[in-house]
Amino acid sequence: MTIERVIKKAQEINPEIDTEIIMRAYKFAEKAHQGQTRKSGEPYIEHPLHTAFNLVQIRADISTILAGILHDVPEDTEYTLEDVRKEFGQEVSSLVEGITKLGKIKYRGIERYRENLKKMFLAMVDDIRIIYIKFCDRLHNLRTLESLPENKQQRIAQETLEIYAPIAGLLGIWRLKWQMEDICFKYLYPKEYKQIEYKYEIEKKSERNQFFQKVKNILEEELNKTNINYEITARFKHLYSIWRKMQIRERRFDEIYDVFALRVVVKNTEDCYKVLGIIHSLWKPLANRFKDYIALPKPNGYRSLHTTIIGPDNKATEFQIKTHEMHEESLYGSQIHWNYKNEKYEYKKPGWIKEILELQKENRDVKDFIKEIKTNVFQNRIFVFSPKGDVIELPEKGTPIDFAYAIHTTIGNKAVQAMVNEKIVSLDHELKNGDIIEIIIDKNRKHPNSQWLDFVKTKHAKERIKQYSQKGAFDKFKKIFNK
Ligand code: MN
Repeated sequence: MTIERVIKKAQEINPEIDTEIIMRAYKFAEKAHQGQTRKSGEPYIEHPLHTAFNLVQIRADISTILAGILHDVPEDTEYTLEDVRKEFGQEVSSLVEGITKLGKIKYRGIERYRENLKKMFLAMVDDIRIIYIKFCDRLHNLRTLESLPENKQQRIAQETLEIYAPIAGLLGIWRLKWQMEDICFKYLYPKEYKQIEYKYEIEKKSERNQFFQKVKNILEEELNKTNINYEITARFKHLYSIWRKMQIRERRFDEIYDVFALRVVVKNTEDCYKVLGIIHSLWKPLANRFKDYIALPKPNGYRSLHTTIIGPDNKATEFQIKTHEMHEESLYGSQIHWNYKNEKYEYKKPGWIKEILELQKENRDVKDFIKEIKTNVFQNRIFVFSPKGDVIELPEKGTPIDFAYAIHTTIGNKAVQAMVNEKIVSLDHELKNGDIIEIIIDKNRKHPNSQWLDFVKTKHAKERIKQYSQKGAFDKFKKIFNK
């Protein structure tokens, strides 16, 4: 890797990028790491350059790229964070500081895992760009795992698969998630990796390509009759996700029919639905396989239409239909998005980061913190509706009471009955994606039922109910006392 390659790539993405300062950061890092080598024997500067290149590829902004080049300076050289700040300013130096803090983990075993996860989340709350740098740093370390002793290879691969990859998924940065997972898969399950790789890359490759061409030709013929601008490509599943599917569904390779999908990228949302209509008129769709992630995006922001149809030769074939913007987002994460007004990439914090921040304020021990994150944040989310069409996000298996408290505390406190899709259900009923919920309240009702605590899923509902039961007890106490 050379700094010229990093700069060239950065200019391709943003022609106005300040190349002079990138060069300056490079010279600084090169001088700082002078004489140091990696375990593989190559000059140390290769590593920060690769990290920066990975960052450029996921559309990182200039400060993040600079911090990528400088990320190992305070930790591994005689130059300090203060030197970085003097040369490159506060923004860059706090990013580098964030990375340095992430690196210091004292514990071993399960404690190490917890500490690690907590630090990652806290860094995210601080500045989400720190995580992007850490991911890109880790990706290069994974690519050079070969030169490390086997026990270290295993530890790093395991940690990446358990902590880094799920967080990348949570942020919707699929490009990084796939790459990390496939490398870890290779080190952790070498035999299984080879088997799937063989089947996938060699045995079935030409068969798959022929089939892709066939489907593509048929669809193109129809699309050419319209004025829709489109691009059709094959999107192949990465090896680790095929293997995971085989594990979860206990199927053989040949039974995993969605090892590849056809991706149709169009100009706007309207065209997405038009293309969907054309596909469904050409082939019969499979029931239950149609997903409208445009109207109901996934919690990580992913948007696209998915459908599986019975294609030529009776083969189930998956289509993903999206706009260019949606496609970009799915590769680089919806947290980084192009602001047309300011003409630069900007970062936004996903909503669940606020939740983590709140958990952190309570300052409980690490074990509880991780447990809370797992149940409150990592847990899969569902989207449900009020009769007026408001969308409410709830954890999976959320109940009408969770919904009621999400709408308003009073609605929660006074809830007596719930209707889901116009049918009366019990208050602990498990809600599903797309349900329409109506809460019936009793105005005279004074307080929530503390038994609801047994089944509510959201922290918010729990707290409201607890608050009331404590207050209720206090009121009772006061009454007795005043007698
Ligand atoms: Mn590094």
